[in-house]
Amino acid sequence: MKKAIVIGAGPAGLSSAHELSKKGVEVIVLEASNHVGGMSRSFDLWGQTVDLGPHRFFSKQKEVNAFFNELIKDDFTLVNRQTRIYYSGKYFQYPLKFGNVLKNLSLVTIFQILWHYLVRVFFPIKNPKNLEEWISNRFGEKLYSIFFKNYSEKLWGIKCTQIDADWAAQRIKTLSLVQAVISSIFNNQGHKHKTLVDQFAYPNNGTGTLYERAAESIKKKNGEIALNSPVKRVLLDKGNKKVSGVELTDGSVIKADYVISTMPLTNLVNGLGHLPKKVKEAVNSLYFRNTILVYFEVDTINLFTDNWLYIHAPEVKLGRVTNFRNWCPTLNKDKNTAILALEFWCFEKDKMWSANDNDLIKMAKKELSDINLMPKKYKIINSKVIRVPKCYPVYETGYMKKLDIVIDCLKDVEGLMPIGRYGAFKYNNQDHSILMGLLAANKITNNNPTDLWKVNTDTEYQEDANIKDVLIY
Ligand SMILES: Cc1cc2nc3c(=O)[nH]c(=O)nc-3n(C[C@H](O)[C@H](O)[C@H](O)COP(=O)(O)OP(=O)(O)OC[C@H]3O[C@@H](n4cnc5c(N)ncnc54)[C@H](O)[C@@H]3O)c2cc1C
Repeated sequence: MKKAIVIGAGPAGLSSAHELSKKGVEVIVLEASNHVGGMSRSFDLWGQTVDLGPHRFFSKQKEVNAFFNELIKDDFTLVNRQTRIYYSGKYFQYPLKFGNVLKNLSLVTIFQILWHYLVRVFFPIKNPKNLEEWISNRFGEKLYSIFFKNYSEKLWGIKCTQIDADWAAQRIKTLSLVQAVISSIFNNQGHKHKTLVDQFAYPNNGTGTLYERAAESIKKKNGEIALNSPVKRVLLDKGNKKVSGVELTDGSVIKADYVISTMPLTNLVNGLGHLPKKVKEAVNSLYFRNTILVYFEVDTINLFTDNWLYIHAPEVKLGRVTNFRNWCPTLNKDKNTAILALEFWCFEKDKMWSANDNDLIKMAKKELSDINLMPKKYKIINSKVIRVPKCYPVYETGYMKKLDIVIDCLKDVEGLMPIGRYGAFKYNNQDHSILMGLLAANKITNNNPTDLWKVNTDTEYQEDANIKDVLIY
């Protein structure tokens, strides 16, 4: 009988444990916090349901959608996506729409965009290594400076020339400006069906419902979910070549044949102890960006109609604002107020991370009014701050060389599978973490030779899929 320990009850951990419990493998999920869902959890706030910022689920992967369908069934709403960019006092529809861009930019700027684009068509940068070069190659420097530079630098906290091109390749559709203009002019006309970019399937009681149900299902199949059980380190056998179990922070030890870890890769590796200096140095040079979420309950439902707004304006630190009023009506529980979540990004060493809640709330209120998102006639009736540590693995140029050193070392340890967003240092969405979880489980049950480190890196950009094909069958 095989026994597996899963560290972390987020999407990656729970999808793996769910699959293992279905196949009869003895599994225990050890979760540090007192809830399941990780960064994708939902929770009650002032009588309504909210997530940790916006959580849109989308995937073209059959097995990922099967996991969603098995647990959510028809208990979801197809939400029509509306998202815009706030920049220079104006709102731009996102994904960009040609007419809207024309309306919002001056003729001079539009000519500059086209000119810079043509320059890059004829004189592309060879082997673009960083975000600035990668985006400029596809869209030209002008469009890059308007729609990518400010936001990316706010999010990552480093210059775009220091952000690895890997991130863009993973997240930005390889679409040229010409294609972007054509698709925005025709604006999906001629396409009968909505794609994943137009709509998304959202569980009626929040994105976290998927993980609450996965946890219930694991328990029904005799799997165990232990909350408030932070893992201190993974234990290896004497030759350091095979896992033998884990040690919790209270000193207790649990033995197992396999450990699927979704705890931060940096903590996992440092806990292993015996590693060569080169590996320790490599892992300790990897770092994360944190998020501070400031939630406001506002005494109106008429603020703005977007699911979320990207705030590109460089004059404020604010990066994104979600309005949960505009997701699905079941979240609001018939209340006549709107809950907003304002996102700010910082490093652990920054003053903002250790600032007190009152100061953060004051700053958030000021920024909201500085960009006119909160007319004076409305009042904020409740505020709350939530800090989300290590939620963005920073893809600084050259990070992959360091990660490769760590991967080479971990590949030698039999039975150890680091997966997930901070678990594998991959900028995963929920679907990628779920896929990693399912594949990790298959490695145990079917001896599947999949290289889990490769999941996500080569995935085809997904948003052109027809929503009906991928979700409802
Ligand atoms: C603001 C924001 C917006 C996002 N928007 C979207 C979106 O629109 N769409 C989308 O698909 N994704 C979105 N994501 C990403 C999504 O939240 C993650 O991809 C997903 O939650 C990652 O799942 P995971 O299991 O890899 O990691 P996590 O969700 O981080 O789960 C890891 C779990 O491990 C636990 N843990 C950590 N250390 C230990 C330890 N030592 N011992 C035991 N347990 C431990 C943690 O408590 C946590 O529960 C967003 C994320 C953020 C922060």
